[in-house]
Amino acid sequence: MNLVSSVRETALQQPNKTAYHFMGNDTSYAEFDQSIARFASALRELGVEKGDHVAFLLGNTPHFLISLYATMRLGATAIPINPIYTPDEISYILQNSDAKAVIALDMLLPLIEKVADAFPSVLTYVICETTPEVGEKIAALPEGVRKKVKTFTQLIKSSSSDVLPVDISPDDNAVILYTSGTTGRPKGAMLTHENLFSNARDTADYLGFTGSDKVLATLPVFHVFALTVVVNAPLLKGATVLLVPRFTPQDVFDMAKNQQATVFAGVPTMYNFLYQSPQTNVEDFSTIRLAISGGSSLPVALLHNFEDKFKVRISEGYGLSEASPVTCFNPLDRDRKPGSIGMSIRNVENRIVNELGDDVAVGEVGELIVRGPNVMKGYYKMPEETAATIRDGWLYTGDLAKIDEDGYFYIVDRKKDLVIVGGYNVYPREVEEVLFAHPGVVEAAVIGMPDENFGEAVHAYVVVKDESITAEALNAYCAEHLAKYKVPRNFEFLTELPKNTTGKILRRSLKDLAHSK
Ligand code: AMP
Repeated sequence: MNLVSSVRETALQQPNKTAYHFMGNDTSYAEFDQSIARFASALRELGVEKGDHVAFLLGNTPHFLISLYATMRLGATAIPINPIYTPDEISYILQNSDAKAVIALDMLLPLIEKVADAFPSVLTYVICETTPEVGEKIAALPEGVRKKVKTFTQLIKSSSSDVLPVDISPDDNAVILYTSGTTGRPKGAMLTHENLFSNARDTADYLGFTGSDKVLATLPVFHVFALTVVVNAPLLKGATVLLVPRFTPQDVFDMAKNQQATVFAGVPTMYNFLYQSPQTNVEDFSTIRLAISGGSSLPVALLHNFEDKFKVRISEGYGLSEASPVTCFNPLDRDRKPGSIGMSIRNVENRIVNELGDDVAVGEVGELIVRGPNVMKGYYKMPEETAATIRDGWLYTGDLAKIDEDGYFYIVDRKKDLVIVGGYNVYPREVEEVLFAHPGVVEAAVIGMPDENFGEAVHAYVVVKDESITAEALNAYCAEHLAKYKVPRNFEFLTELPKNTTGKILRRSLKDLAHSK
């Protein structure tokens, strides 16, 4: 059993069941399966073979779902790339990943024209049409690139839907995911069919996904959180994926209400936007049975505020690209613990170790390490980075965590985000939690700044509701709740915090901002 065969199975058993909903249209599992088969045949006719790499520059549209499952059915490997990356970033990944074909949204034609000469090994560019003028734009391309361009619709229409013989081994690469790269160059985490299948299955089982669920897919699908939690896990269970092309509170509320969504998954920033949104009508979320948070720590004050307002339980989990991604979740059937990432999901082991690799005591902080069928094979063409990250079969996450006596894990921070003030450790998260609990604070992030006397000082960036919230007021509030050395030395007010496309606050950009002054 793998992801591909499971979708095929659902198409045979429940052909009329809706696989996904997009822009007012339902597509059944039978139709989805036929598109997958046709597109897989088309890719094969274009020269893509088992083991080849196919890069995707796609967003939350059906093209992504069909391309992913067709690529996997062919035994080829998908390389999902964030389509809003700069040409330099995209070129780096195309180069590093040895892509043989590229599937891209039509708005990326200018980018393809720009980078194509550097990639003679790319056999074909499949353009996914979202606007009617695509034909003219393709006709205007220089001949060299134009000869390699095909349109998605043309390929799906003209190809056969004969089912290709599936020859997939669990250890074959299904996707290579270039990790967020908030520092340095991105690395390609190789995730096998076994990695993706086991993590989708174990996550879906832990969260109690069933065929009746309708899961809002508003997280960007090229990111691992979305890939497993809102794409593969629901499809594995024969549920329905509700594709929301762009995150806006209005779009999420509309889709939830019109399609009677049952599951929402988001990063904390999304929860914050939904909570703060003036368009909120809490009734719109009345069919949601489960809200899932991950990607970064969900401030406890936000969790409570959101739950009180929308009357829905949030389960926070944790994961990383290298673990396909999920390793922990808060349980649904027993009490979940706010501020915690929950417990190990089935088949995945989590441990917390010190610098020597020995387990630390309950309540002590150490590095979180992970083992299980979900852990990547390694980084593509980077054996040294792989050896540094996977040691004795354990994946070193680079996250600092602790465990309580009930077996719940808590992420304290990322190793490199630790701030040391005069020998005392300050974990930015602890300070951010306090700031978040202030009623006038919308967003907050904390970094360490060099300090002559103490080595480092705590520096806070905040977005506030209005100008009546002053640095003095925040200082007094923090002093009430934190030890003196943890109280931010400086407060800087911004209109918004820098974030990546998955909504993660970019501490590095804040550090760059601080150093540029
Ligand atoms: P990515 O590979 O882009 O998914 O990023 C993974 C990283 O996100 C992890 O190593 C953590 O630092 C962070 N992360 C994910 N989930 C959580 C969470 N619930 N709490 C705190 N950090 C998280």
